[in-house]
Order: sequence, then C-alpha cells, then structure tokens
Amino acid sequence: MTTLSPTLELACDLIRRPSVTPVDEGCQELMMRRLAAAGFALEPMRIEEVDNFWARRGGDGPVLCFAGHTDVVPTGPLQSWQHQPFDALIDETGMLCGRGAADMKGSLASMIIAVERFVADHPKHKGAIAFLITSDEEGPAQHGTKAVVERLRARGERLDWCIVGEPSSTTLVGDMVKNGRRGSLGCTLTVRGKQGHVAYPHLARNPIHLAAPALAELAAEHWDNGNAYFPPTSFQVSNLNAGTGATNVIPGELKAVFNFRFSTESTVEGLQQRVAAILDKHGLDYRLDWALSGLPFLTQPGELLDGVAASIRTVTGRETTPSTSGGTSDGRFIATLGTQVVELGPVNATIHQIDERVLASDLDVLTEIYYQTLVNLLAC
Ligand SMILES: [Zn+2]
Repeated sequence: MTTLSPTLELACDLIRRPSVTPVDEGCQELMMRRLAAAGFALEPMRIEEVDNFWARRGGDGPVLCFAGHTDVVPTGPLQSWQHQPFDALIDETGMLCGRGAADMKGSLASMIIAVERFVADHPKHKGAIAFLITSDEEGPAQHGTKAVVERLRARGERLDWCIVGEPSSTTLVGDMVKNGRRGSLGCTLTVRGKQGHVAYPHLARNPIHLAAPALAELAAEHWDNGNAYFPPTSFQVSNLNAGTGATNVIPGELKAVFNFRFSTESTVEGLQQRVAAILDKHGLDYRLDWALSGLPFLTQPGELLDGVAASIRTVTGRETTPSTSGGTSDGRFIATLGTQVVELGPVNATIHQIDERVLASDLDVLTEIYYQTLVNLLAC
C-alpha cells in the first residue's frame, strides 16, 4: 500500500469519526491539536449541545478565516453502501469513499495542511489566520456558526475574508466558487372557509375554491429579474393540504406551505407585502406565518474573490466561475459581519448521498489552492 499524503491521512482520520450531526466525535479536538502546534490561540465554544471552536494566529488585520463543519448527515441504510461510510477507503478508481468525504471533512483536512505549511514557510505572515469550526451545520444550525458569529460580533472581532470549505465545484475541483447565496423565506398560508355538505354549497365556503385562483396568481407572479449575480427570485409551493377525507364534506380550512429563494433585488418586507396584496385582492380570509431562514449575501469582485481565482488559476490552470446557485450555507451568518465570503471546496456530485465520495487527488489539489490563496493574501 502506498503512503497517503498528509491531507488524505487527516481526511481519513476525520471520516473515521462518525460525527453524525450535531455530534463532533473528537474531530475538533484533532484539528485544535494541530492548530495549537502551528501557533494558534484556541477558543473552544461549546454552546448548548454543539461543539464549536474559534482559533486565531497573528496580529491585527487583515484576517483570513477558514470556516467549516465537522458534522455530517446520517448515512441512510448501511447495506446500501458499497464501502462502509466510516471506513474511509480509497477505491481502485482513486475515489476516497465515506460520509463527509466531500461535505466537508476533505476540505477541513486541506485547510489544516495548507495552513501548517504556510505558517512554516511564512512564520511572520501579514495579518492573521483564523478558523471558525462548528459541529452543527447540517442540523438546526442555531448553536453553531450563527451563535459563534454573535459572540465575535459582540466583542468586535475583525474578520475581513472568509473561505468556507463547502463543496462548491461541479466537475473539476476549483471550476466553481460560490460568492453569495440566495435568501430563503418560507411561509405557511392558512385560508379559512366554512365547512359544510357538498350538496349544500350555499351553506358553506370552500377554501380550496377560494384559494386556487390566488395560488395560481402567486405561482405566475414575476417577482424580480435577478441581476448579474443572482437568478430571478423563485416562488414554489411545497405542501398543499385541505379536506377531511370524506368525499361529501367541504373542508373548513386550507393550508399551503411555500418558499421564496430570493435575490438581492427583493427584500423580505417587499415579498411579504406583495403576497398579502395578492391574497387581499382575492378577498380571502387568511393568515400568514413567515419564517426567514436566511438573507441573501453577495461578495463582489475584490481582494478575496480575486485572490481565490488567481490561486485556482496558478494551481489548476482553470478559470473559476463565481456563482450564487445552490442552497444556503453558514456563509450567510458570517457575511453579516461585513466579511467577504467565498465558498471553495471539492466536487459536490455525491454530497448527502449513499456512497459519498471525492477524487482523492482533488483534496491534494485543494490543499495547494488554499495554500496559494494564503500566499496571495497574507505572504510578506
Ligand atoms: Zn456542508
């Protein structure tokens, strides 16, 4: 058996700890030991049942922070996996297999190895390097990055640039970085009618009949055009429920659950007002229960995006594509500190799936990209 690179050795070590969200299983302990040896000041922050830590090395700004999560999503049925999810096996095609290989223990290993090498090569680097690591990104994400960011904000911690290790690439490592994310705004709509017998509709009010044209109008509405960085805001109904089960009863109530993925061209208040205006126009008796799960954020071209793009070019010869597609990530919390945030990690084709895997050599490439980014931004 050939010896593994330092990145792959650490990635395997992390994958073998079954840290199903929000459990950390000692992953952070392992990372903190390495960072302490590299001269970082450590600050574990256990908040409720969630392990987090903040680590920092260097003087005043600029501060480049690496962010990520040690928790992984559940495996699903073990018998469906070709190789057991916590064995961290490299198969005959060179794929590192296991839960978290792509999302995102591979990235965590690449960050640690890149930083160890960088501080050895540039012990008196500019500014500071930091780590913000949580074990609750895949779960409710209340006591993870969001809570740590609140503590950092309260004490005025400076955070100029942040690289989140989420798997951003589509087919080749570095082919895409995420420089923002759409916002996510959910809502439960309750439309009230009056229950009755289907044979006596004049004695009832059917909420399905009342809501249908309004829902059709909401579904057809053009919310915005998006902009250079964001696709147009989208509206989707995910659940629709009404009815008593009996075929001869007009129900008294209808519930619809819908979600906006919105661009920086729309605001929460604006979307809420427009939905209410459409429902009012249809004369409905209704209630709206809104749940905002994330505001949109955007990192414009600047030092961080340029530094990352240049390092991808140097290491792989590829021109990266900045994108705001995909779901939300912890980047949304960090961006509220006024931080430039870019997500850069391995190929995301198998994340959260049975047989999650990543090309093992891609993690070594990722280490080089992180290293080169450190050189571009913090070398003297
Ligand atoms: Zn992730």
